[in-house]
Amino acid sequence: MAKIVINREKCKGCLLCISFCPKGLIGLDKDLNRRGIKPVKFSRQANLNKGGTPPKAEKETSDCIGCSMCAIICPDCCIEVYK
Ligand code: SF4
Ligand code: SF4
Repeated sequence: MAKIVINREKCKGCLLCISFCPKGLIGLDKDLNRRGIKPVKFSRQANLNKGGTPPKAEKETSDCIGCSMCAIICPDCCIEVYK
């Protein structure tokens, strides 16, 4: 079960990682970071971009395949991938 950790204070909201995640697991956070930018956030299930909420029972599983595309594409190295 892979997962990613996003440094939300470093994120500049360029949205590159959203378009490169093959599983649609990254979406926009609704809260601003300290720089006044809406950063991205990770969802374990691939329904964040469709406005859904992951069911509680599925919180320990993840659709993330650990491909690292998000981390590679981020120009500011804000994403760490754990496999
Ligand atoms: S590691 Fe791959 S599947 Fe996981 S969030 Fe990043 S781009 Fe998406
Ligand atoms: S690619 Fe990096 S800087 Fe751009 S939105 Fe994603 S985490 Fe933020």
